[in-house]
Amino acid sequence: MRVAILALQGAFIEHERMLARLGVETFEVRQLRDWEQHKDGLIIPGGESTVQIKLLRDLGLYAPVAEAIKSGLPVFGTCAGLIMLAKTQDGEPANRLSTMDIDVRRNAYGRQLGSFYTEAHFEGVGDDVPMTFIRAPYINGVSADAKTLAVVGGHIVAARQGAQLVTAFHPELNDDTRIHEYFIDMIRQSKSDM
Ligand code: GLN
Repeated sequence: MRVAILALQGAFIEHERMLARLGVETFEVRQLRDWEQHKDGLIIPGGESTVQIKLLRDLGLYAPVAEAIKSGLPVFGTCAGLIMLAKTQDGEPANRLSTMDIDVRRNAYGRQLGSFYTEAHFEGVGDDVPMTFIRAPYINGVSADAKTLAVVGGHIVAARQGAQLVTAFHPELNDDTRIHEYFIDMIRQSKSDM
């Protein structure tokens, strides 16, 4: 199994380390040539969604990445990655990759509460999952067949729709590997469905 990690900007190295710990091979996507390699899944890291979407467009990666996700390539978006995948933002078209039926609120916790740590239940993973939030978004709501996987303080912070997984927090910044294992299982499932 080989997982592509979008490495234009943000916290991508931490995802590589996490998958290395799980014995999963990764490669960084910085340009179209990297993207053209074989891949079984994609991680879109945290960082700054405005920068990521601009670079995706400028580098000619936007259409191929969006197409691959729409065709069922398993994808995991954390924080800015979640923002990239949301179809709408506060009820308006988000105009990013926009492949997932979730409505996002950016920088949802304001400046004061911008960054915090908690532990919470994550559906299909278990209890006491470490969650580090950094100027994080949350999900206002899910629609179609998107499902809520975790709720913190009354707000949705993780969701799944088919082979797409998103978390508002950064599981790659803690020691717990369970969320990444969950994503690896999603990749295995999607392969056995083909
Ligand atoms: N606030 C960032 C954005 O809007 C996301 C923050 C993060 O990824 N840690 O893209």
